[in-house]
Amino acid sequence: MTRLRAACVFCGSLPGADPGFVDAARELGRALARREIDLIYGGGHVGMMGALADSALAAGGRVIGVIPRHLMRPEVAHRKLTERLVVDSMHERKRVMAGRADAFIVLPGGYGTLEEMFEMVTWRQLRLHAKPVALVNVAGYFDRLLDFLADAARHGFIRPPHRDLLSVDAGVEAALDRLAREAATLHERSRAAQLDRS
Ligand code: AMP
Repeated sequence: MTRLRAACVFCGSLPGADPGFVDAARELGRALARREIDLIYGGGHVGMMGALADSALAAGGRVIGVIPRHLMRPEVAHRKLTERLVVDSMHERKRVMAGRADAFIVLPGGYGTLEEMFEMVTWRQLRLHAKPVALVNVAGYFDRLLDFLADAARHGFIRPPHRDLLSVDAGVEAALDRLAREAATLHERSRAAQLDRS
């Protein structure tokens, strides 16, 4: 069984109004370090992103930041990462993040977080990758969005088999447990498909 080696996290560049949001970012950073899963993220030291990276580093984890050149301002970029990859555009950043991660985790955030999450779900729908995407619904932050997605499916814009492309958990540990199981299953499936072809 393969294990989850690297997870890409999308989350807010602001801390959000409820201290529970930053607490969840810190809990995820610590949990990734404890499980020896590399953290791949946007490379910032602000808001939820900064709390996530700092807690993973403080717990002895490996943190890889992928940051576009135009965001490399000292007030934004994290200086103490295990590895920092500076890329030329937002598009390249997403391609690099998606290539290095075995799974994606989404915490509360704004436009940037939602855009990144939906792009990874769309790429999976189009079979451009087969990596799981997990949403951590901290304090019910995503409830209205999830209601909207259920509506979109009812209105016939999301196919029934695609409704589960985004998995939803209330907490960080449950999301990581699920991702570890899914990553192993997806790996077994792709290995079986390779054996069938050979
Ligand atoms: P938002 O949810 O709008 O705050 O955007 C956060 C997401 O967009 C993160 O997952 C990052 O990948 C990216 N992002 C937005 N702002 C920044 C920033 N100042 N530094 C690095 N990445 C950022």
